[in-house]
Amino acid sequence: MDALERGDLPGLRQVPKADLHVHAIMGGCRTFIRDRTGHDVVPLEGVLASMDGMHAWNDRYLRPVFKPPAGVQDLPYEATFAQCRRDGVVRIDMGVDVQTMTLRSEKPAAAVWSWLKDIHLREAPMVDWLPQLGADRKARIENILRWLDPFLELGVFRTFDVYGDELARPIDDFLPVYRRLKSAGLILKCHVGEWGTADDVFRAVELLELDEVQHGIAASESPRAMRFLADAGVRLNICPTSNLKLGRVKRIEDHPIRRLYDAGVRVTVNSDDPLMFGSDLSEEFLLLYRAGVMSATELDSIRREGMT
Ligand SMILES: [Zn+2]
Repeated sequence: MDALERGDLPGLRQVPKADLHVHAIMGGCRTFIRDRTGHDVVPLEGVLASMDGMHAWNDRYLRPVFKPPAGVQDLPYEATFAQCRRDGVVRIDMGVDVQTMTLRSEKPAAAVWSWLKDIHLREAPMVDWLPQLGADRKARIENILRWLDPFLELGVFRTFDVYGDELARPIDDFLPVYRRLKSAGLILKCHVGEWGTADDVFRAVELLELDEVQHGIAASESPRAMRFLADAGVRLNICPTSNLKLGRVKRIEDHPIRRLYDAGVRVTVNSDDPLMFGSDLSEEFLLLYRAGVMSATELDSIRREGMT
């Protein structure tokens, strides 16, 4: 709280934090990647008018560093754990895309697991890593179910998330996947309510029995949806700079985390894609404080929420 009030970014980086919404490819530390490869990944400028801007940025800055298939190389994971060290992140939820790992890696699931565990122990053994399984919204359901099995059999993955184009297809299609994961005891998450509506958030949480929502900010437009989330104790893992850069929120001063918090919804602050958006977790906390969206006391309670 003192560091927020002083605007002391190095001080904020010393404070233990949890990043529960970050993607390994885009979660890496810029200076770590520069030191390791000589490539400087310059963050995206301005607000994206369309996805073309993101693709152009990818081609210019990411492709030379993370040659395809990036999701099965050491570097993105090393850089993400390096970012934890740099920014005082002591708890992180990220992991494996089941499609990428199944189709593009030579390794079977058990070897993928020991490979990732080695990177974790090498780069950031002090970090509490919640190993995640993930799938793209566009992937075929029967394929996801098939790809998941070898990973679930290991019994080591803790969370599940669906990401990618939220508008690609109805979330209802994923019911068999979430049923399977519920019975396996994973923490269930989904990217919803970033491009979609409050009803989309309500529907996804109710149908899929989600524990947490990645983004979910559209719920702030509906008192009914917010009451439902608060009563159900569902947590929203929110990423303010990502919302600004993708034009989901026009001004940080109006960020809906305020309304969600006031409605009693559990919220956390997260980084999403620090490599692309150029803002790490400490900077996200400072951004909300400086804009007067949340007080230092409130931000500290949000920080603590992520640690539980
Ligand atoms: Zn995300």
